[in-house]
Amino acid sequence: MKLILLGAPGAGKGTQATLIKEAYAIPHISTGDIFRANIKGGTELGRLAKNYIDKGELVPDSVVIDIVKDRLMEADCANGFILDGFPRTVAQADALATFTDIDAVINLVVDSDVIIRRIAGRRMCACGETYNTATLKGSEICAKCGGKLYQREDDREETVKNRLAVYEKETAPLIAYYRDKKLLIDIDCNGRTISETDKNINKALSKV
Ligand code: ADP
Ligand code: ZN
Repeated sequence: MKLILLGAPGAGKGTQATLIKEAYAIPHISTGDIFRANIKGGTELGRLAKNYIDKGELVPDSVVIDIVKDRLMEADCANGFILDGFPRTVAQADALATFTDIDAVINLVVDSDVIIRRIAGRRMCACGETYNTATLKGSEICAKCGGKLYQREDDREETVKNRLAVYEKETAPLIAYYRDKKLLIDIDCNGRTISETDKNINKALSKV
């Protein structure tokens, strides 16, 4: 199963990708996670990416395309993968089509007021868990590992506004792009819990 997850920042791509990855035993490839790991590790790629990410801008296409191309050549991608955060521009989608085919594109549909609320409340743990202040009830500690929660630097309000504008301009056109190719599956996430959305995705994927 070769999948792409589309959706605005904060739509829940990372959360749903983790569930799909477990159900289908395929790797979850998140370009955002790759960049964050490189920033943390102090690599040259990390230093380059940070300049863009902190402003809510996109990392240049040429950089991202090479990273994904290399990653998809690794052995664990032979039976499928789930791409989260890539492609994010039409140029990235065109490049992707030259090195792999895709079985389905899942588009997570969420209203913009919900998105803004979710990102503002998003809290992370170094172990990889994600939380929201709406359910944390004031706790600042990870329930899984006891680590101290923090806010992603690019989740701050000024940066979020720019990320949403960049999404509308650069990434939203991919909805029509993949609809034209008959690959798009819209999943309405409004008013749905994480597990309801997971069920809806699985139902849709069982027909692919
Ligand atoms: P979100 O989906 O919540 O915006 P991500 O973790 O996917 O967050 O991405 C964080 C940032 O990493 C983006 O705002 C962007 O700067 C950079 N990034 C991630 N994926 C790509 C990509 N495919 N192309 C360009 N930049 C990217
Ligand atoms: Zn943790």
